[in-house]
Amino acid sequence: MSDIYDLHSHSTASDGALSPTELVLRAQQHGVTALALTDHDTTAGLREATQAAECAGIRLIPGIELSASFESHCLHIVGLNIDPQHPQLLEGIAKQQLIRDQRAQKIAEKLAKKGIADAYSTLKDVAGNGEITRLHFADFLVSRGYAETAQDAFDRYLSKGKPAYVPTVWASLADCVGWIRDAGGVAVLAHPLRYKLSTKWINKALVAFKTAGGEGIEVVTGRASVDDIRLSYLHATKHQLRASVGSDFHAPGNQWLELGRLAALPDGAAPIWQLF
Ligand code: AMP
Ligand code: MN
Ligand code: MN
Ligand code: MN
Repeated sequence: MSDIYDLHSHSTASDGALSPTELVLRAQQHGVTALALTDHDTTAGLREATQAAECAGIRLIPGIELSASFESHCLHIVGLNIDPQHPQLLEGIAKQQLIRDQRAQKIAEKLAKKGIADAYSTLKDVAGNGEITRLHFADFLVSRGYAETAQDAFDRYLSKGKPAYVPTVWASLADCVGWIRDAGGVAVLAHPLRYKLSTKWINKALVAFKTAGGEGIEVVTGRASVDDIRLSYLHATKHQLRASVGSDFHAPGNQWLELGRLAALPDGAAPIWQLF
């Protein structure tokens, strides 16, 4: 029988609500037979996820989601089938984690200026050894009554142009793709439509991504419509990139964004998993 793939998901190692073990069990319950754990700028959940997947009898593909700077844009690059121990990758991740932590402190300072105290120390406790993301800040703002929903927290405080937005320079697109390739993995541009790039800019980004050694693009993502899938697949064919599928699952509770709840790839698409 062929595998059911979900190649983009998060655990408590970054901004997911489930531990790596809980995530793997939920994936199995939802019929996924090959899951990639792709936490933001960390591989810390992979060991536990691999063990849980072994027990559950599903395949765990070690992954990561790196935040990459391309000109003034931030792109997310998913690395699949990486060696989590590879020194170049570990060195790169360590730099990203420092950037993340410094940014978190700056976001908290900006919130403090708005009269919202203690965000950094609170989120350090919440995240534990995991990476702090803006989703943590969004949940914090909701829990303190400063926003109705995570989306509302982004709209009021965290998005570009809002009071607690901190412009951030991440590693370059070329470096991120390079680290993934060094670690034996394949690089995939995550959720290509979420950056709201013009046609000119998405093409520019994809040329740079491909030149750096990028091999895939997410054609099917969690909430993609038929039109979204068609457009993403057009990007794939234009730039001769393989197609990936991933829910970008973060937490239970949203029936439209569940592990393994993914449309099929368009006919004729070259699946990224043929490379691993
Ligand atoms: P960061 O990488 O720290 O900037 O955090 C980005 C994460 O925040 C994403 O991976 C999503 O999980 C979450 N996120 C980004 N934008 C939104 C939004 N508009 N509403 C809800 N969550 C969001
Ligand atoms: Mn996230
Ligand atoms: Mn992302
Ligand atoms: Mn993600």
